[in-house]
Amino acid sequence: MADNKVALVTGGSRGIGRACAIELAKSGYNIAVSYAGNEEAANKTIEDLKALGVNAKSYKFNVADKEACEKAAEEVLKDFGKIDVLVNNAGITRDGLFMRMSSENWEAVINTNLNSAFYMTNPVIRTMIKQRYGCIVNMSSIVGIMGNAGQANYSAAKAGLIGFTKSLAKELGSRNIRVNAIAPGFIQTDMTKDLDTEKITEHIPLRRLGQPEDIAKTVKFLAEDAPYITGQVIGVDGGLVI
Ligand code: NAP
Repeated sequence: MADNKVALVTGGSRGIGRACAIELAKSGYNIAVSYAGNEEAANKTIEDLKALGVNAKSYKFNVADKEACEKAAEEVLKDFGKIDVLVNNAGITRDGLFMRMSSENWEAVINTNLNSAFYMTNPVIRTMIKQRYGCIVNMSSIVGIMGNAGQANYSAAKAGLIGFTKSLAKELGSRNIRVNAIAPGFIQTDMTKDLDTEKITEHIPLRRLGQPEDIAKTVKFLAEDAPYITGQVIGVDGGLVI
């Protein structure tokens, strides 16, 4: 297993992150997944990853905590020896109309969805620069492109990730590190379980919600089959944003 590539997927215990971890494991990646607190989901994901014949380990830490991210990156490097692919995926929503949005809900979403990418990418690119290879995928959203009433905090964080992606792609291209973002539409996970899916589906040209695997396949494509793609925002939304 020593020569396998290594992927670190934040928020890899459930939903989209879990699907990304599984898809990369199917391609032979050893996998580090992070999670916030859902031990049961993390253990199940690790069990499923190991059943695919790869090395896998979970790391419990808050991606909104800079020191915790630095420590976790160190631990992953100690355990796996390198990080080839980083998927900045962990995220939360704290929805509400802007007029009533508390500073607490603004900061929680910006820290968890945007600052986390800085905290996590910073220690990881040091090792990618040394090995002269790396692929970073930032999980943005269609609302980072088009905005959404009730999600000023979330849209700002997701739009921020797009600017971050493009700037980093320009800075790190010469080091053979590619940086891309994915903008998922409505994907069926715990995050979207309370939405009125019937109404939403009417507006989606492909007439269905996305599955976590739809995003995971795009992550795998970016990691494995896209050596000349960097700085892009790939919409995976059933045609919702055209
Ligand atoms: P999800 O099912 O709610 O899973 C969220 C994951 O992030 C879990 O693994 C969770 O860990 C982890 N997490 C949350 N807060 C964290 C923190 N502070 N520190 C570390 N880990 C944390 O969400 P999802 O739907 O898969 O979404 C994944 C990403 O895709 C998010 O960035 C989201 O904004 C984005 N996205 C989702 C959709 C959609 O329709 N679902 C659309 C566009 C973009 P625990 O299991 O321990 O809680």
